[in-house]
Amino acid sequence: MKITSIEVFDCKLGKDDPSLSYFNPVFIRINTDEGISGIGEAGLAYGSGANAAVGIFKDLAPSLIGEDPLNIESIWEKYYRGTFWGMGGGPIFYSGMSAIDIALWDIKGKKFNAPIYQLIGGKTNPQLRAYASQLQFGWDKNQRALFKPEEYAEAAIKAVDDGYDCIKVDPIQFYGDSQEFNALSKPKQSYFGLLEPQDIKRAYNRLKAMREAVGPEIKIILEVHSLLGVNSAIQLARAVEDLNIYFFEEPTNPMNSDAFSKVADKVNIPLSGGERCYTRWGYRELLEKQSIAVIQPDACLVGGITESKKICDYANIYHATVQVHVCGGPISTAASLHIETAIPNFIVHEHHTVALKEKMIELCKYDYQPIDGYFKVPELPGLGQELNDEIIKKYFAYEIK
Ligand code: MG
Repeated sequence: MKITSIEVFDCKLGKDDPSLSYFNPVFIRINTDEGISGIGEAGLAYGSGANAAVGIFKDLAPSLIGEDPLNIESIWEKYYRGTFWGMGGGPIFYSGMSAIDIALWDIKGKKFNAPIYQLIGGKTNPQLRAYASQLQFGWDKNQRALFKPEEYAEAAIKAVDDGYDCIKVDPIQFYGDSQEFNALSKPKQSYFGLLEPQDIKRAYNRLKAMREAVGPEIKIILEVHSLLGVNSAIQLARAVEDLNIYFFEEPTNPMNSDAFSKVADKVNIPLSGGERCYTRWGYRELLEKQSIAVIQPDACLVGGITESKKICDYANIYHATVQVHVCGGPISTAASLHIETAIPNFIVHEHHTVALKEKMIELCKYDYQPIDGYFKVPELPGLGQELNDEIIKKYFAYEIK
């Protein structure tokens, strides 16, 4: 089997849905001489970097032409060690490697008529408990910024009514009491130093409103997107300890593993992180210092399914559980479900509010959503997902042959 071409799709969803103006999934499709194709996603759908992700395939794809797509490990090694920048490559480079790796696994699954999870260990977890993620945007199709504690309580109730027993919220992302203080347009630098009493009070009141709305049995994950420094992360965690937080995500920048360890030593809430760590080497210090309870590798950023599986097994040695980070398109969801089904240290699956948006769902053929808070892995050969050609053709960027 030989690879014949790679198509790249630049899905600027904001053109058709302004509420997704910051959302730009980048997909690829690898085609072969046997008529089997595989799809992959670069994990830079939000933040800055999608344009670079579109471009990285101009560098990475030409050397794939003529390769046997079944030699996944050898292709991974070639990118990692044979491209100079592969070692220590950062999110743009690794998002490209990840998309290619996922597409190759899709091809392998189709070639051997097996879903990917069967090729990486089988069905360890027949059902995957999911949580409703990022409730500071509400929990419905109309994503928006929430400010008042009662709005946070309402979002929490909506998610629980949908069957989730676990929810996640960032109670500091939107500061002030209304849209005009939106943290996205006016970053609040003081978060990084020490928190002001009103910052702690605002976050606490939002979390407390959610806890009171859903009762003691629902798990609440506290997320702060690395907006805090070591000292402010400790301040916030200590202030909310009585609300029984399940785990505390990205309390501070995980690139400094000693900072993470310091937070872990000073607070009584387990820590999670890893959506901005890449490859096994990016996780090494965090794992060896045992400061992290839940790792959150993004399959579309850490180096694909190949590298995700290795990182999950590596984490197992250090008693760390796994929630694959999912904040992208439907390919990201499918890849994550296969990994989480196979690994023994799975804890919970992330279901983001963007996964409820129509413009996101229609990019692909199948719409995988949890039922009563639980996902099942796709049983079709490969990823169990396909691009929706009718929609995706308008996002076609270029093809390498
Ligand atoms: Mg996060």
